[in-house]
Parts: sequence; structure tokens; C-alpha cells
Amino acid sequence: MIFEIRYEQLNLRLIIDHDVYEKIVLATQKHFPNEFGGVLVGSYDSRKSATIKGIICPKEYENSPVFFKRYSKFINKQLKKIYSESNGAIYYLGEWHSHPNMVANPSAHDKKSMQKLVTESDLKITNPILLIIGGRKSKLYSRCYLYYGKELLEYQSIKTEKVT
Ligand SMILES: [Zn+2]
Repeated sequence: MIFEIRYEQLNLRLIIDHDVYEKIVLATQKHFPNEFGGVLVGSYDSRKSATIKGIICPKEYENSPVFFKRYSKFINKQLKKIYSESNGAIYYLGEWHSHPNMVANPSAHDKKSMQKLVTESDLKITNPILLIIGGRKSKLYSRCYLYYGKELLEYQSIKTEKVT
């Protein structure tokens, strides 16, 4: 899946491996109708193009049909492991979570938590990506956003295909 963002001087591309998207769909369905989520890992192949190569799901979390909160301990440990095992080639890119039976648009709470992530977490990222997967269990779809200038800019889907 390929998404693009065109905003001011930004011309950013986001690529999601098909296998990774399948994992997001399966994790979402497994926890339906409760929300679920985790983090996105991958790399910036250039300043303009990022590829999501994997997800990490939390071991500890709180969730309901309208709420999801992940705890960081396990995820941070996995992030360190992935980073060192890939010699720094794969790292934290952002967050994902589901909106069961809802649209994949960010809530006011989502925006606040992205801001908090940038200002208060030790993830050291200024422009995290947010992927939201919404819709019915059998008909899920996703939207992607970039936290930029205190806003969530939406990536537009330009085509859906298997990325090899
Ligand atoms: Zn949300």
C-alpha cells in the first residue's frame, strides 16, 4: 500500500508492506469490538519516503470499544532489540490503533496523545506517523497521518498493491 502526503513543501511517501498490513488487520479483528494497537517500525529510505516494515503489539494495555492505552515497557524493550539487531536500519516510526465500527479519523484524544508522545516520551521523534484502522470487522480500512506542526496531516492513498 502506498500513501502520499502533499502539504506545503512536504511531498512525503509512506509505504506499508502487505504482510505488515495483514498483521494489523488480524490484530484488529482479534480484539474486536475493543480497540487495539501498537507501534509501527520501519525506516526512512530517504528524507521523503518511509516504509513501515513491522508492528510491535503491547503485552500490557487497557482497552474498550472506545478506548485504547498501551504500556511501554515491553514495546521499548522490543524497539531496542529491533534497532540493534538491524544495525540501526529499523526503528520507531509511529503508532497505530483501531477504531472498531467507527471511521478511521483521529479523535481529539488521538491528537493530544500524539502531541504528548512528541513532547513527553523518550522516543525522540518529532514527526510520528499515526495509522488508524476503522470500519466493520469484515470491511476494515485504514488512514494514515503525520504529526506535523501540531496537526495531523493525512496521507492520501495513491494505489493499493502488493509491495514486493
Ligand atoms: Zn483513536
